[in-house]
Amino acid sequence: MTRDQHSPEGPAGQRPEPPFPGQSQPHPGSGEAMRPQPDHGEASYRGTGRLAGRTALITGGDSGIGRAVALAFAREGADVAFCHLPEEQADADVTAQLVKESGRRVLAVAGDVREEDFCTSLPARCVGELGGLDILVNNAAYQMSQPEGLAAITTGQFDRVMRTNLYGMFWITRAALPGLRPGASIINTASVQAYQPSPHLLDYAMTKAAIVAFTHGLAQQLAPEGIRVNAVAPGPVWTPLIPATMDEEQVAHFGEQSPLGRAAQPAEMAPAYVFLASPEASYITGEILNATGGTPLP
Ligand code: NAD
Repeated sequence: MTRDQHSPEGPAGQRPEPPFPGQSQPHPGSGEAMRPQPDHGEASYRGTGRLAGRTALITGGDSGIGRAVALAFAREGADVAFCHLPEEQADADVTAQLVKESGRRVLAVAGDVREEDFCTSLPARCVGELGGLDILVNNAAYQMSQPEGLAAITTGQFDRVMRTNLYGMFWITRAALPGLRPGASIINTASVQAYQPSPHLLDYAMTKAAIVAFTHGLAQQLAPEGIRVNAVAPGPVWTPLIPATMDEEQVAHFGEQSPLGRAAQPAEMAPAYVFLASPEASYITGEILNATGGTPLP
């Protein structure tokens, strides 16, 4: 597939205007099948060398926020490794192509972050094949909306949410630590859900609150080693996760409740990750950077 087929609808300022039509897809979903397709910054993101010479590892980098971060990091001069579910190979190929077109090296690894061995192997593969690891972005996540509430959350769903969102982050970060040098940056993807849990996303919101606690605690633990740990807390973002885990009615109204009155595009999340990863943010650790479209968070 050519890049043009995957280009956003236009540069920033010419993005498609919500509301977007109600739609749904089987999980994990694909940006390709979304209408309109998400904007990852393909036509708009301009790098200025802020991450020159660095190497980043991003979980869930095939689509959505992860793809936008991969693209921005590459245009800022970083080599990028990312992982994705095996069934998302087509999306992963597009992300890999975007990184390569930025003139950077890319490593795409298919696998499941619910498996400890896979997680443990990722940092070593990044170091082995790209020569280092300076920035770790724990971004992969699973959710499944259950409008009927707690009683509808099966043990299988609960287990999947916990293992994907928490165990994966824990295993990968623990495995990455020995290779991280002073100046390294860990960035976790939290959510507005950590502070304002939607009743239909109860189990998912629990994990996002835990990610905030992990970020605050680990930042203190690693500060003496010169390693910064921060998180981005997105509000509603137009990514495959949404039509793949919510019904058409929820999707049709997605983002309306934010003060800006719309969902963000993935491209609007990437600058927060670039900032936290960059050496200019050297005094910022233990911070949760809220990108909510105006919803006030603590
Ligand atoms: P997305 O569907 O594009 O990305 C989710 C990623 O998680 C996928 O790339 C998928 O490969 C990966 N993933 C899921 N289960 C996995 C597994 N078992 N093993 C390996 N990878 C797995 O959606 P997104 O919205 O870009 O999600 C990225 C992050 O943003 C997530 O942490 C999500 O919780 C968070 N977030 C999203 C929103 C939103 O409105 N879209 C809001 C707040 C936070």
